[in-house]
Amino acid sequence: MKLLQQTILDKGTVLPNGVLKVNTFLNHQVDTGLMIEIGKEFANRFADANINKVVTIESSGIAPSFFAAHTLNVPLVFARKKKSLTLKDNVYTSEVFSFTKQEASEITVAKEFLQENDRVLIIDDFLANGQAAQGLIDVVTQAGATVAGIGIVIEKTFQPGRQILEDKGYRVESLARIQSLQNEKITFVEEAVTVTN
Ligand code: 5GP
Repeated sequence: MKLLQQTILDKGTVLPNGVLKVNTFLNHQVDTGLMIEIGKEFANRFADANINKVVTIESSGIAPSFFAAHTLNVPLVFARKKKSLTLKDNVYTSEVFSFTKQEASEITVAKEFLQENDRVLIIDDFLANGQAAQGLIDVVTQAGATVAGIGIVIEKTFQPGRQILEDKGYRVESLARIQSLQNEKITFVEEAVTVTN
């Protein structure tokens, strides 16, 4: 997605250990116009997947998921990272190791928001080692629901997340695929261009 790639080049900064900081448009301040375009793109890519629910993880997954769920006309559910007093029982939980925080946390979704017949689109802001996505897959499958696809805003292809998810049979769609962040330079994977006459 060209607009996203350009925004990453213009506003992203490379931190040590292969981390991309995107606090000016995604992870802290939010570019709402860009989020609308991202949401439409996810909805478009998964239009054929019979999605009836979008599931993400707080907090950075919410902004890019919102318009995807709206466009698909389905509910958006976000997994909580902090235990809430109002969310004690009747929950699905999974352990997620955070790549950026380097700590494990338990994610939680209330059972009432996931049903056996759900076909779920999982959305997250980044794909690195695939831990967050696997935690979300875990809660969705605990409910007996189906993961119909995984939508990622920014994939770091030099980390094994995609391979792990594809090896398990999941369809992964990323809107920006970063090949390298070496020497503080952001390079993208060349996407195949289809030429039609
Ligand atoms: P994974 O679970 O795939 O290892 O990492 C994905 C999660 O870690 C995302 O939810 C995101 O919050 C965070 N993350 C991973 N890599 C990056 C990165 O380069 N930049 C930022 N801002 N977050 C990242």
